[in-house]
Amino acid sequence: MFGIPRLEYADLLLENGFKDIVVSYDPELVKGLLDKGFNVHIVVGAFRLDNEFRDPRFLAEDPYGRRHIWFGSGCPNNPDIRRRTLRQISEIIEKHSVNSILLDGIRFASMGSGIEAFATCFCENCRNKAEEYGYRFEEMKQSVKKMLNAFYDFKQAWDVLQAYRSSPAGFLDLARGKHGLLDWLEFRERSVSDFIVEVRNLIKSYSRKASLGAYVFTPSLAFLVGQNYREFWRYLDFVKPMVYRKGRGVACLNFELARIAEDLLRWNPWLPEAELISLLYRVFGLQEEGFPIARARALKQAV
Ligand SMILES: [Zn+2]
Repeated sequence: MFGIPRLEYADLLLENGFKDIVVSYDPELVKGLLDKGFNVHIVVGAFRLDNEFRDPRFLAEDPYGRRHIWFGSGCPNNPDIRRRTLRQISEIIEKHSVNSILLDGIRFASMGSGIEAFATCFCENCRNKAEEYGYRFEEMKQSVKKMLNAFYDFKQAWDVLQAYRSSPAGFLDLARGKHGLLDWLEFRERSVSDFIVEVRNLIKSYSRKASLGAYVFTPSLAFLVGQNYREFWRYLDFVKPMVYRKGRGVACLNFELARIAEDLLRWNPWLPEAELISLLYRVFGLQEEGFPIARARALKQAV
């Protein structure tokens, strides 16, 4: 069961066979649930911007130097944000015999937060991290800038995608001159996996009982946000894949695709909306038949 408004509903859940419950950290509620015999799983926002982090230097930076808040979160490589999360997790594990910690928002921005927020992060912390990993930071940054420019003026990309009928060959053509794009995606993955390792080691140092899980984007979107299923199995005890076909928030397929369409149409009002949305379905491997092809409907409906 995800969430419980008050402890007084706990008995009702137990009577109906629920034994596992996911809640955010509230010491009294957690203690109460454990006392009643629940398996308790605590969800922790990995890079969430609490009040102490309401300052531009904690936000993710795009290649034009603009800072963005995505999913209420900041830069995944910011050492202060990371330390805060590790502190929170130690406090939980130290004080309560919980069954697992579940990381939420353990990623970089998705396009559902807007294409400009997606095109991050190029802050000083990420520069240092990229150099430490051996990536060519400037090349990644220039490539992501070119990618953004191609979205701002979508004419060439549109023509190529139409000519190649949205096939992988078309994407190879579009990737020309943007050598750093794959490195950028890999850099995001590595940054996320590294933090997961830190959290895992911290938990295992305190408790043999507690396991570590994470909410993960659906596979066709995960690689865009720095989540690599092929790596996660090494460090996570379990994953909760967010295969949401329909919903009103990031990670939901309809919402993510509709937000891409929204940005593209804002920057390129000449684009034919229905064709653009059909193209996005094809790009993300969905059969378009029967799906909504108007932005407003795609935002609300299943894909
Ligand atoms: Zn950064």
